[in-house]
Amino acid sequence: MPPIVDPKKCNGCAGREESFCEEACPGDLMYVGQDGKSHCHAARDCWDCMSCVKMCPRNAIETRMPYQLGYHKARLVPLMGKNAITWKCTDINGNTVTYKYRNRLDVKD
Ligand code: SF4
Ligand code: SF4
Repeated sequence: MPPIVDPKKCNGCAGREESFCEEACPGDLMYVGQDGKSHCHAARDCWDCMSCVKMCPRNAIETRMPYQLGYHKARLVPLMGKNAITWKCTDINGNTVTYKYRNRLDVKD
């Protein structure tokens, strides 16, 4: 499923030559349009890697789970922390569960 960009939250990464989501997408699928908002130009090529979702500093992107897994109402939202990522999973009935994982090892010199 393609990423869904909330136009109220997206500011096109104003001030950056390339937006975070454009930079992150391994398929080069995201672009900032004339409207100053991010879009996915080839939804069918998106493989739900969530890289764009995780990189957006404004939490403006989400992906919808493929219908084979959870139908359209199901959501998976990553909340990025400094050393951890919290995945907020919402099923088709609106039940939400969160999972928190460390995503970096503390480096001590
Ligand atoms: S990273 Fe977020 S704020 Fe920046 S262009 Fe993409 S969706 Fe918009
Ligand atoms: S989920 Fe992955 S493949 Fe799909 S648009 Fe975002 S970065 Fe690209």
